[in-house]
Amino acid sequence: MGMRRYSAFAVAREAARYHQGWARAWDSPAPKAHYDVIVIGAGGHGLATAYYLGKTHGVKNVAVIEKGWLGGGNTGRNTTIIRSNYLQDPSAALYEKARSLYETLSQDLNYNIMFSPRGVIMLAQTEHEVRGWKRTAQANALQGIPTEFIGPRRVKELVPIMNIHGPRYPVLGGLWQARGGTARHDAVAWGLARACSAMGMDIIQNCEVTAIRSEGGQVKGIETTKGAISCGKLAIVVAGHSGVLAEMAGFRLPIESVALQALVSEPIKPCMDVVVMANTVHGYMSQSDKGEMVIGGGADGFNNYTQRGSFQHVEETVRALCETFPIISRLKMLRQWGGIVDMTGDRSPILSKTPLGNCFINCGWGTGGFKAIPGSGWAMAQLVAKGEPGPLAAAFGLERFREGRFIDESVAAGVAH
Ligand SMILES: Cc1cc2nc3c(=O)[nH]c(=O)nc-3n(C[C@H](O)[C@H](O)[C@H](O)COP(=O)(O)OP(=O)(O)OC[C@H]3O[C@@H](n4cnc5c(N)ncnc54)[C@H](O)[C@@H]3O)c2cc1C
Repeated sequence: MGMRRYSAFAVAREAARYHQGWARAWDSPAPKAHYDVIVIGAGGHGLATAYYLGKTHGVKNVAVIEKGWLGGGNTGRNTTIIRSNYLQDPSAALYEKARSLYETLSQDLNYNIMFSPRGVIMLAQTEHEVRGWKRTAQANALQGIPTEFIGPRRVKELVPIMNIHGPRYPVLGGLWQARGGTARHDAVAWGLARACSAMGMDIIQNCEVTAIRSEGGQVKGIETTKGAISCGKLAIVVAGHSGVLAEMAGFRLPIESVALQALVSEPIKPCMDVVVMANTVHGYMSQSDKGEMVIGGGADGFNNYTQRGSFQHVEETVRALCETFPIISRLKMLRQWGGIVDMTGDRSPILSKTPLGNCFINCGWGTGGFKAIPGSGWAMAQLVAKGEPGPLAAAFGLERFREGRFIDESVAAGVAH
């Protein structure tokens, strides 16, 4: 399918002909018998992997296989925070690559992903957090990532609706990344899908992978609800279902799957134009373009695949945020939902070769992978195309769990959204 460019001219042209001429954004073909590369999972990471395989490495005989609808997993369920102020060098490099790709992703895809670099503050509400964020700001300076530790007065200037005086945890400052922000999650998936389809790739929805066929340590193909498909290489990019797919391929992963949830309020007039994360009380909030307050909470404390949130988290999160933002105490909450996130022990992702020679895995983004989508896809495409990780992915291999080389962001971030 050729892609017709979206432009102001195209909008005017279609307005003049009653919007009858818009083409479908992507095709929905039946699967072919064979692809050079199959990517399992049409979330942001799977689609970005396919996109950069085509764009950077010229590999275009690619299928992205999705059991539901594209973007219907965590990619369409997250609170869209984008930042790169991580502590460890390999994480900072990967997340900053992603953040910098986000800056021009709308132009690259010719699709408005509504990237909004409005700034992200991670509040310090204990002395421990003050020390932690100062340390991260110093690390970021060495990594070339502009962040700064700001005091409570500056926090109040940036977020006038915030109560910085407690009662339980007064705001002592925060880690501020001015070019962090948000993007429209569905648009990221849709824009990538449209670009993949325009390169001749097949995005096959409503097609569940039920088995992985291998022989002599190599993947030969997959079984799906739409039949068997053979492939030269396989990329597994299924977030919370990574353990299930790894089992089909015959290996185990150091991953736990848990539900993480979010909620939105009724829409209100603009009152907060930055993203605020409060890790001590465990809640974070931003305001969407529609005016809803988008609120994220904690992950369930037990493993599950339910894809919906638990009520006690809603209560805990809202109670915590009401202390810091008393103004929201009488807002009505509109919707609540959950996603299944894939947590590793060090809270860092896995971009790795597997025991099967031509099978690669991308997972473990846990509660914070939306921000990584373009960087992860870029690094994963390199891994799949060349068979070896490039510098961005090298530290994130599975062998780190065997060798004890953790990239520990759990202590560094508390909550790694
Ligand atoms: C409530 C919530 C809030 C979050 N907030 C943030 C945030 O603010 N910032 C941030 O950076 N990150 C956030 N995240 C995390 C982020 O959403 C994820 O890390 C990211 O979206 C993962 O993308 P993905 O493409 O790997 O997975 P997904 O989008 O989940 O895609 C995986 C796909 O694989 C498909 N699949 C699974 N099994 C099969 C099968 N057998 N056959 C075929 N297809 C299959 C699924 O249907 C799914 O569509 C949040 C997550 C949640 C749930």
